[in-house]
Amino acid sequence: MSGPAVATGVHERLDRLASGARAHDVDVLLVTGPVNVRYVTGFSGTTGLALIAADGADPRSASPHTALGRQRFITDFRYETQAREQVPDAFEREVVLDDLLEGVVGALGGGGGRLGFLEKSLTVADHARLRELLAEAWQLVPSGAIVAQLRAVKDDGEIARIRAATELADEALRAVLEGGLAGRTEREVALELELQMRRRGADGPSFPPIVAAGAHAALPHAQPRDREIPPDVLVTIDWGALHEGYCSDCTRSYATGEGIGARAREIYELVRSAQQRAVGAVRAGASGRELDAIARTQIEQAGHGEHFGHGLGHGVGLEVHEGPRLSRTAPDKPLAASNVVTVEPGVYIPGELGVRIEDLLVVREGGHEVLTSLPRDLTVVS
Ligand code: ZN
Ligand code: ZN
Repeated sequence: MSGPAVATGVHERLDRLASGARAHDVDVLLVTGPVNVRYVTGFSGTTGLALIAADGADPRSASPHTALGRQRFITDFRYETQAREQVPDAFEREVVLDDLLEGVVGALGGGGGRLGFLEKSLTVADHARLRELLAEAWQLVPSGAIVAQLRAVKDDGEIARIRAATELADEALRAVLEGGLAGRTEREVALELELQMRRRGADGPSFPPIVAAGAHAALPHAQPRDREIPPDVLVTIDWGALHEGYCSDCTRSYATGEGIGARAREIYELVRSAQQRAVGAVRAGASGRELDAIARTQIEQAGHGEHFGHGLGHGVGLEVHEGPRLSRTAPDKPLAASNVVTVEPGVYIPGELGVRIEDLLVVREGGHEVLTSLPRDLTVVS
């Protein structure tokens, strides 16, 4: 859990959130969803929410529109002790019996203003109930971007955790590969990978590992089967570790013998080359669309455009998929230094094979740092 390190970042995040809320013309921001609440308050339980007043660095200078004395954290009685341990004193901690939303209404009082909410984590039912309970002078304003933009730019402590998760996941895979791939089932390999990550200190996998051999790898999100991996095929493994709340994400495709055939080698080389070219262009200021186009153009020119049906990559942090997106449809916005993103082109030929190569990178001014340590050249693991 490591509350203290998370809490260190909390004060700075509070300041940035409060000014972000002001910039978006929001008086109070309602933070919901366990991951967002953990990010903002350090609280790692499942039931809690936070109210952030927009008025900048001094938590006591509440918005004139509200009765919110200082930043507020609301949970129920089951989490009283945990909240005291994890949520810093910058928050007034409130414990309600049952209904957190009643706590929100109580904290906001009868005033009014613009209440920002996170549209991806407040349910439609809770939104309706809030609307019903709140005084009419409160306007509900979708404000998910405020937290998402903040989460996308990692601080040093977050990058250290993602790096640790990546190292642990890389080591776990190396250990699994020592036992070979051919002759084991996809499910056995996936299970051992999870076990090896946990042995090395992971809280668990950051998502259920994908292990897919031969034609099965043509499904980008294939589920491991109880079927033996044959010799002389390509096997795609996509996995990540969850460590101190933070995720890693990586994919490699391996050959289970020298006899995979010329076409498989050619497609592997195409994906490797497109991936390397896109990775080479990652830096602060490049846009997710631009980077996607670098890999996609090369794959299209090789005649496989229709076989690369997903985006180039995504942000990784407390969640394995978060902002920013690197894709054709991503907002045409430049990446920022300290974004952490994947670069993962793939080619999937139905009924035949699939190849994906995915690395995790920290975006820097003028360049990037690759966190993944595994080689990208075609490797035979029999
Ligand atoms: Zn992945
Ligand atoms: Zn990914």
